[in-house]
Amino acid sequence: MELTNKIAVVTGAGSGIGRASSLKLAQNGATVVLVDYNKETGEETLKLIKEQGGEGIFFQADVSKSEDVQNYVNKAVEVYGQIDIFFNNAGVIQRFAPFTTVEESEFDRIMDINVKGVFLGLKYVLKVMEEQGSGSIINTASTAGIRPEHSVAVYSASKHAVIGLTKGAALEYANKGIRINALCPGGVQTALTAGVADQFAEGGYIPEEISTMRIGRYAEPNELAEMVAFLASDKASYMTGSVVLVDGGLTL
Ligand code: NAD
Repeated sequence: MELTNKIAVVTGAGSGIGRASSLKLAQNGATVVLVDYNKETGEETLKLIKEQGGEGIFFQADVSKSEDVQNYVNKAVEVYGQIDIFFNNAGVIQRFAPFTTVEESEFDRIMDINVKGVFLGLKYVLKVMEEQGSGSIINTASTAGIRPEHSVAVYSASKHAVIGLTKGAALEYANKGIRINALCPGGVQTALTAGVADQFAEGGYIPEEISTMRIGRYAEPNELAEMVAFLASDKASYMTGSVVLVDGGLTL
């Protein structure tokens, strides 16, 4: 029980990597504040945590809205008095499409959730952690944050930005007891990739990578959750500003 007495905040906790990581953090003893804009799936994650004997609360919020972010951070502090772990994970995928057909509204949606959402989470959680003088933050980027995926240039740009925010913040807070790392999944079996598969089935764009997953399969969300729990714990005490690939060799 590495994380006993730790308070974790997880965004995008209602599904996929966020849900699996919330369950894993709770299994390791953390109390988890679950954040998602989907109330139904967020509450379902809380139910699953309680069924396994864990503790936490659910808070409905849109990570791209400053007021919502301040509210979930304030709620965590009001109820539990501290934030030790922050899994800044909520994100959305862009529709696969040729560059010149991408609407400005799609650009704004992706940037608002994937970049501004991560920025706002960092901004308000770091204030709390700075006062404590401790904390571990994991931002979910992607292999698309290291090199682009085909036909999703805006998504790729948003994930490059997440890595930039991670490194910039890590540099500022390394000597203040706060570690900040980026997690880069490759292909993970979640609602997000199911949506992509649907789009391929409709005759959309097929990125080359889909046929070149070196390990020969998608990851299970739990395989990402293991890394989240490790980065959250003191076992990762010398890691900050790291860009951690858990991609089954996708980028090889
Ligand atoms: P998912 O769709 O299964 O889960 C994402 C969750 O985030 C959902 O519960 C959704 O309701 C929530 N969410 C989305 N926008 C939100 C907002 N504005 N405010 C609050 N909650 C919001 O997806 P996933 O695959 O678990 O993805 C999690 C993260 O991992 C994302 O940042 C994604 O870009 C990244 N990622 C996923 C893959 C993959 O293959 N699945 C690969 C690389 C990176």
